Amino acid sequence: MASSARVDDLLLECWRNPSDKQFFAKAFLQPYGRWLAESGGHPVDRSFETNERKCPFCGGMPQVSFLQIREATSESGNRDLVCATCTINWSFRRVACANCGEESPTKLGYFHTPEYDHIRIEACDTCKHYIKGVDLTRLGFAVPLVDEVAAAALDVWAHEHGYTKIELNLAGL
Ligand SMILES: [Zn+2]
Ligand SMILES: [Zn+2]
Repeated sequence: MASSARVDDLLLECWRNPSDKQFFAKAFLQPYGRWLAESGGHPVDRSFETNERKCPFCGGMPQVSFLQIREATSESGNRDLVCATCTINWSFRRVACANCGEESPTKLGYFHTPEYDHIRIEACDTCKHYIKGVDLTRLGFAVPLVDEVAAAALDVWAHEHGYTKIELNLAGL
């Protein structure tokens, strides 16, 4: 078993340089990051750059995107990204790659199966990355982070088609 000093080192390292390969540290840090964000704290001891494709709170990569109706007058829904590091969400352009910002519809592809009607792969042919999108306008009680992990078959499809995920989930997919 790892000593507690070793665990501390691992967590600190992952906090400073988030990695989607460190599943234990990532799972441990998510509730901490969320608590920090919700309690009005600030990430310290961590340098990061943010742009619209990274978490405005901690600079983390997006784990999943989701659509929801925010205003009663809107029919199509707003798109948000969920941070893989602290799990807060921020709004993002509806038609754009969450990895490189590509906006051309001819470069952006969507794939879904009847099995998961409310989840789709959002893939980009410019950077060859993808993220899963959960459509809460179709299934209002879906939970993006949980449903994202459950729809593993879509990851298999994306990998087979040469796409790399922006951020691996806690199941390593
Ligand atoms: Zn974050
Ligand atoms: Zn892209």
